[in-house]
Amino acid sequence: MTSFKAALAVIAFFMVTPFAALAADNYRIIHAGSLLTDAREDVKTEQTILIKNDAIVAVRDGYLTAADFDSVDEAAIIDLKDKFVMPGMIDSHTHITWELDKANIIDEVTQTQADTAIRGVAFAQKVLAAGFTTVRNVGAPRDGIFALRDGIAKGYVDGPRILAAGYTISPLGGHGDTNGYREGVIEPNSGICNGADDCRRAVRQQIKFGADVIKFVATGGVLSNIAAGTGQQFTDEEQKAIVETAHAMGRKVAAHAHGTDGINAALRAGVDSIEHGTYLDKESIKLFKKSGAYHVPTVLAGITAAEMAEVPGVLSSAQAEKARRVGPIIMAALSKSYKAGVKIAFGTDSGVSRHGINGRELELMVEAGMPEQAVLIAATVNAADLLGVSDQTGVLREGLSADIIAADGNPLENISTLLKPSFVMARGQIFKP
Ligand SMILES: [Zn+2]
Repeated sequence: MTSFKAALAVIAFFMVTPFAALAADNYRIIHAGSLLTDAREDVKTEQTILIKNDAIVAVRDGYLTAADFDSVDEAAIIDLKDKFVMPGMIDSHTHITWELDKANIIDEVTQTQADTAIRGVAFAQKVLAAGFTTVRNVGAPRDGIFALRDGIAKGYVDGPRILAAGYTISPLGGHGDTNGYREGVIEPNSGICNGADDCRRAVRQQIKFGADVIKFVATGGVLSNIAAGTGQQFTDEEQKAIVETAHAMGRKVAAHAHGTDGINAALRAGVDSIEHGTYLDKESIKLFKKSGAYHVPTVLAGITAAEMAEVPGVLSSAQAEKARRVGPIIMAALSKSYKAGVKIAFGTDSGVSRHGINGRELELMVEAGMPEQAVLIAATVNAADLLGVSDQTGVLREGLSADIIAADGNPLENISTLLKPSFVMARGQIFKP
């Protein structure tokens, strides 16, 4: 027998040996003093969650042990009897390979995509420690973010589940482009496009290399280093081409939009979410409700950008002017859209704010007038629906991923208790920062 055949025989032996299969399963039991399995429902007390490997296999009343489950020989008990246990949270808007600071101007011309992936590993751990077990990354150097996403999925490094957009789709010189450098210093990336046909190419190119979702800029933005306002930049025709192409290939579309004209054009084009939505108006609200699109407010980004405008050396004058004007208005936009019944999904734009303080957005949403329960729905059920991962996460139910966090207090009474989760489990792995 060649050594190759011998190796195959060994593998085959283990595959058919029931003992080997049993030994591989890792059961854990969580005893939850208070348990919110689904943010739309009531809290239950004295509950047991049975976890097998990376998934939830049962949620039952009372504090049960392995002896109470026929299929389980032994299971480690995780005692959360004095905690509030709930689904891991979801941030629908992050930039997890980047963080706003004074070094950014130099980073743009010195960092490789590998550098961004390594920085992303450190940021991903902070975001996971903050109780976010899933994020949607809407715009980053493509190879860096895809490597980080895949490395986390394969278990090489700790981090939240990532759905990634690759490069932001942007017009040349637009909000998703890198502006302010001498010609030739920064080559346009594959997300930059002009005209409907070229924008179809840009979308297809992100998907070809691994994009889970498409992000495009419907309007100007605060942190692009160009004094080009915050109004519509892509034409209606370009926006329709982007959305059609992405949807035809089974990808959802997130549109960055501040100005009213751009928000409404993106909603008419059929986007799945509006990010920021700063100057949304009555017509926008009608369009949101007609299409079922989500509003991802990112209040924290607005406040952070406005603060950064006052720190010397961080923002250019073009950026600072927009930050002072736009930043404070985003909270009012959320108040308006929530009151009008628009669907809200949680998102921070983390990267603009420091990674790991994502939970601050929960407090700002309450400040904007959302009841605590609505905020928890936005950060779990709604965000899962927007990301298209409701069959994996967002609630705690048999068959779903074991994405479970715990807080010392009750977030339905005091949302701030979620800023420092006392327990984080992602895909069945307990994360200890
Ligand atoms: Zn963003």
